[in-house]
Amino acid sequence: MKTAKARSIALVGIEGICVQVEAAWADGLPHTELVGLADISLKEAQARCKAALGSSGVSWPYGRVTINLSPAYLPKMGTHFDLAICTALAACVRDDLPEPAGVLLFGEVGLDGTVRAVRGLLPGVIAAARQGVSRVVVPAVQMREASLVEGMDVVGVGSLAELWEVLRGGPGASMPEPVKVSTAAHGKLDLADVTGQPEARWALEVAAAGGHHLYFHGPPGAGKTMLAERLPTLLPPLSEAQALEVSAIHSLAGEGLDAGLIQNPPYSDPHPSSSLASIVGGGAQVATPGAISLAHRGVLFLDEAPEFPPKVLDSLRAPLESGRVVISRQRATTVYPARFQLVLAANPCPCGKLETRGAACKCTPQQVRKYANRISGPVLDRIDIHQHVRPLSKAFACEPAEGSAAVAQRVEMARERQRARLSKFGMSMNCEVPGRVLRKELPLPDVDVIEQAVRMGRLSARGADKVLRLAWTVADLSGQDVPGEDELNIALAMRQGS
Ligand SMILES: [Zn+2]
Repeated sequence: MKTAKARSIALVGIEGICVQVEAAWADGLPHTELVGLADISLKEAQARCKAALGSSGVSWPYGRVTINLSPAYLPKMGTHFDLAICTALAACVRDDLPEPAGVLLFGEVGLDGTVRAVRGLLPGVIAAARQGVSRVVVPAVQMREASLVEGMDVVGVGSLAELWEVLRGGPGASMPEPVKVSTAAHGKLDLADVTGQPEARWALEVAAAGGHHLYFHGPPGAGKTMLAERLPTLLPPLSEAQALEVSAIHSLAGEGLDAGLIQNPPYSDPHPSSSLASIVGGGAQVATPGAISLAHRGVLFLDEAPEFPPKVLDSLRAPLESGRVVISRQRATTVYPARFQLVLAANPCPCGKLETRGAACKCTPQQVRKYANRISGPVLDRIDIHQHVRPLSKAFACEPAEGSAAVAQRVEMARERQRARLSKFGMSMNCEVPGRVLRKELPLPDVDVIEQAVRMGRLSARGADKVLRLAWTVADLSGQDVPGEDELNIALAMRQGS
């Protein structure tokens, strides 16, 4: 019997675990077995690898072939194990192809022996680096993505024939040309495009400064989507660690990272008709990240929020609390990060014409109430700012509006104040401060207005904490050390949408 080994990575969420691929070839009747908790895409690897090896001059061995992926307890999914399987088999059959030592392999093979791009390469290479591996073999088309991990020696191969050259000591493919990207941080979006709407713009600025969740309601065409789309342009760029984490999630979703790491807070806006799995994350056997994870460290915008199925809206509750989403499937439970800033938008009624002058709304009061109630209380209670967006008046149409850069500067100053105050508690934003710290550790403003609202049943206990957090953000934006009566009143009005 002959055996040979190669290594790759199995991903569990965005974490990776080293997997050893062993190939054994023994005399006997022709039979091939793939063992080690492989999913369907991986079971099909056998057929792919057989054809690909044949196309690249290595014939499939005659006899009993066993391919084992260990550790055996770990569920393995994806097509990126192809390269390791082909390499182990080739080393088993051919004496001139050595076993690859100290290197991890990623790549899917085509029937003609080409090496194709795979999902989740970046988290795979990050995991390799964490385990002390300094050399990876990846599809040539994804060399840029793999090179985003600092200090990694990246070898690209376009085909199995090229891989055999690399195993014999060859250099591999050269780095592809960088993809041209616009230097503007967020494309062409800028808050200067939104004319008028001073209250809504202010709400957006406060939300950006303190990381608060936001709910815009108002007639269609008032600019709710325009405002939400521009929230990421007010947020500071991601830190290096955050950029790597966010890019890893997007790599898992199959997005190319040729242009480099994602440096700015992402924006994700699923459609109301999207499936629960595409929003929360999911898949038949093992879960892939959904829209809420693609919004991690950025903005999740749900336009026409009442149109989303209640099941979808309620599934946001746990991630809003914990910043992560747990997806259980038959074979594995996967955890993905999902710490996003939520922006909801809704029309005043099902037909949208209720507040538009001159338009005839035919909705009954009952329908209007039912529409608003489609967003459940527990979800609404987690929203910090409720902001009404008025129809645009002509008077504002020609007035020049302040651009994103100027607002982002104020946001950054307010964030700096928060960091200075909160770093000793291990936090950086007002939205993260728990009630206990808010009431016992930080200086407490005169909270009469809040207590009065609670006594009158206009504010829940959770709501009271939210008003306090908002008041801090308003104070941070105006450069005050402690929120005063004005800040508390503004916060209370923002929370209650008045
Ligand atoms: Zn209506």
